[in-house]
Amino acid sequence: MPRRVSIFGATGSIGQNTIDLIRRDPERYRVVALTGARNIAQLAADARALNAEIAVTAEERLLPELRAALAGSGVTAAAGQGALEEAAARPADWVMSAIIGAAGLAPGIAALRQGATLALANKESLVCAGALMLETARTHGARILPVDSEHSAVFQALQGEDMAAVERIILTASGGAFRDWPLERLAEATLEQATDHPNWDMGQRITIDSASMFNKAMEVIETREFFSIDPERIEVLVHPQSMIHALVGFNDGALMAHVGPPDMRHAIGYALHHPQREKLPVERLDLARIGCFEFRAPDDARWPALRLAREVMAEGGLCGAAFNAAKETALDGFISGALRFTEMAEVVERTLDVLSRQGGVIGAAMTLDNVAHVDHLARQVARAATQERT
Ligand code: NDP
Ligand code: MG
Repeated sequence: MPRRVSIFGATGSIGQNTIDLIRRDPERYRVVALTGARNIAQLAADARALNAEIAVTAEERLLPELRAALAGSGVTAAAGQGALEEAAARPADWVMSAIIGAAGLAPGIAALRQGATLALANKESLVCAGALMLETARTHGARILPVDSEHSAVFQALQGEDMAAVERIILTASGGAFRDWPLERLAEATLEQATDHPNWDMGQRITIDSASMFNKAMEVIETREFFSIDPERIEVLVHPQSMIHALVGFNDGALMAHVGPPDMRHAIGYALHHPQREKLPVERLDLARIGCFEFRAPDDARWPALRLAREVMAEGGLCGAAFNAAKETALDGFISGALRFTEMAEVVERTLDVLSRQGGVIGAAMTLDNVAHVDHLARQVARAATQERT
């Protein structure tokens, strides 16, 4: 029986890498749903090539275009948030969650509710609603497998180990585009400079988040949620080569490091084939040629996002949802030219200050509705804070 797979965010960087792996072995898979947003040509071409049951765009206004592109193919076209959630509820064995941003949460929950194995690239789901995600997986007998490279690395290092023996988890960070810039120049960093990652080829938003370390800040929270480990046991280490993805420190002093090329098809392939390991089309590292691995301590002055992540974890509740929404809004501000690079962290900090003073908001129960409410409020506050700066 072929495995039924769905890919949410199929037209993006992770989605395309997932399709690359599936395409190499078409007999093994039956594609249920592929989703995208604005890139209708790519969505339709992949849905045709993979003979998907349904293709969904998040953008309702683009439904006629998607329908036209799929005419005669036998693939159903659908659009909108409701259609995304319905597609996620279609029975599938393995679902890739690779929508960008908080928009990935509801489809991810719907996929867990139907008992699928959820390969989770969308770290925002865990940052906004980690407890809800894990609880939904538990009650529906579903499984979440990490796809973020650091979390996949930790997950692999933990195979056969007892969490009680884990003293610390060390997430590595490349340091992004500005790791060597003088601090005083950071405020002048342009969009073009922030979009140029030294090691990884990723979507634009996560590339900028790597330069600001908001990506790592989100990953620290993701680690706390996914592995249920105390925040004090999570460390960040700057490692410019991006070849060690994470390390796990055990109580006997051993550090297990996961080393691999900076190619997301490794982590995606691991989640696709788990619990087996299978041959993957990624580079084999020549360590003698690489010569040495470099490490540095992270610098809070350069990357205030890391300090903010600690504050978010200390606050708990729905603070993660506020943090993510503020970060997404600040990033929009930087991309549109309304904010300077260094002002993104200021806007996020200001938003967290405002919302944590409204105690009931962050302390409310973790339901999808409350997460959406906090997300909405945080975006409003962050937009106002952005306007104050322009
Ligand atoms: P991209 O921006 O490349 O792709 C995002 C995908 O989401 C596209 O399919 C896009 O559609 C779709 N999309 C955009 N907005 C919406 C929306 N409002 N509703 C539904 N779908 C939408 O992102 P990446 O592939 O880089 O990242 C995807 C996720 O994986 C993120 O959570 C990211 O943090 C995580 N991740 C990514 C890594 C990477 O190497 N890229 C590494 C580790 C984690 P369209 O393009 O058609 O508009
Ligand atoms: Mg990562």
